[in-house]
Amino acid sequence: MFERYAPEHEVSSVEEPRFTDPAIPSHACCCPARPVVRVIMPPTAHRAHPVDLWLCGHHYRASLQTLLVAGATVEDLTLTPDQCRAHYSGAAAA
Ligand SMILES: [Zn+2]
Repeated sequence: MFERYAPEHEVSSVEEPRFTDPAIPSHACCCPARPVVRVIMPPTAHRAHPVDLWLCGHHYRASLQTLLVAGATVEDLTLTPDQCRAHYSGAAAA
């Protein structure tokens, strides 16, 4: 009577690094959600060392402009290393 929904090209979320890499925390720094990005804040006059922030998608988008102004580096946790290389090499060529 019911057919199981199984799209052919759907990527399982369990294949994303943020679900499989034990170095990635299960909760973001900003809220209880799972982090989507790792933001590296550069050193400043008041902070001698860079600082990692693990942000959910909502808080990342909400603070993106401030992060860019501060010179932050962003690592997308939803991409595998191969996808990341392909994404950024494509962006550099465009
Ligand atoms: Zn958040």
